[in-house]
Amino acid sequence: MRRNAPVRLGLGEKEVGSVIEINKLFKTTDYPYLSTFMCPPSLTKKWPEEILEIIPYADVHVIERTDQLITFHRNWTNAGRPKPQKPTFFVISFTTMRGDCATVPAVHYEYRKTKVQEEEKELPYRDGYYCPCCGKAHQVVESKETTIDEDGNEVENQVKRTMQEHEFGESRRLQNSKNPANAFCSECGESLWTKKVPTRYESINGWLKHEKNVSHALKDKNHKLVEQIQLSQPEVPKQQGNPRRIATVEYIRRKMRWFFDITVVDEIHQLKAGLSAQGNSLGSIAAVSKKVIGGTGTLFGGKVRP
Ligand SMILES: [Zn+2]
Repeated sequence: MRRNAPVRLGLGEKEVGSVIEINKLFKTTDYPYLSTFMCPPSLTKKWPEEILEIIPYADVHVIERTDQLITFHRNWTNAGRPKPQKPTFFVISFTTMRGDCATVPAVHYEYRKTKVQEEEKELPYRDGYYCPCCGKAHQVVESKETTIDEDGNEVENQVKRTMQEHEFGESRRLQNSKNPANAFCSECGESLWTKKVPTRYESINGWLKHEKNVSHALKDKNHKLVEQIQLSQPEVPKQQGNPRRIATVEYIRRKMRWFFDITVVDEIHQLKAGLSAQGNSLGSIAAVSKKVIGGTGTLFGGKVRP
């Protein structure tokens, strides 16, 4: 029997093993549990069938939108947090929650001035959306033409100009449409957008300082002080735009802690964006699970999938 190599999930001390073990686990675990199965979209039909083949009395939910999960959790909370009567599975596709945190521009329109221009309050010598990677201004490709050079090679000539302030807009565009493309830097290909989730502390140093204070207080067994420090933490800043989606990640992170007994991530190598608890709701779900198991080329129900 081939064992899958363990795959790192980027979730710190979470246990990462082989999906094969989950098969054994389900057969030997006699208590009902809550678990999630994350898989590529192509397997959201297959998984429920395979689960029901092994555990015919299981309760299987295919989650298409994050709020379905939240509704389930809210109802469960309102019902007094009952222990599940049956093994309960949530099957979630990698793409289901992809859009759950806001993608925001990583660049803004900048004026670059020389010292003299600054002092003399003169017009800037250049302006544009400067790429954080190569430092060049993002260009609008107005036209492309292919010519043949002296050696007979095809050469692509692009007619470009610097993107103007009103052209970036609020939507991410891979191609020129009504407005020119703005997804990637025209010069080096770096993404000009970033995923943004507000954090309580602006920098890691702020958080480290807080942790230090807490651990000092804990060492002194001063629980009143610990409580005081915890209560005096800054609020998580509210983010403009996409509030519902941000709220989803926050809800999972704060209210669903240890809600899931097991999270299984199938075909983990297809999860391109990784599984970060900070950045996306898939990661948040993994982070609130007691156990996370990931693998590639899953063996499940005694059958090997290529
Ligand atoms: Zn660039």
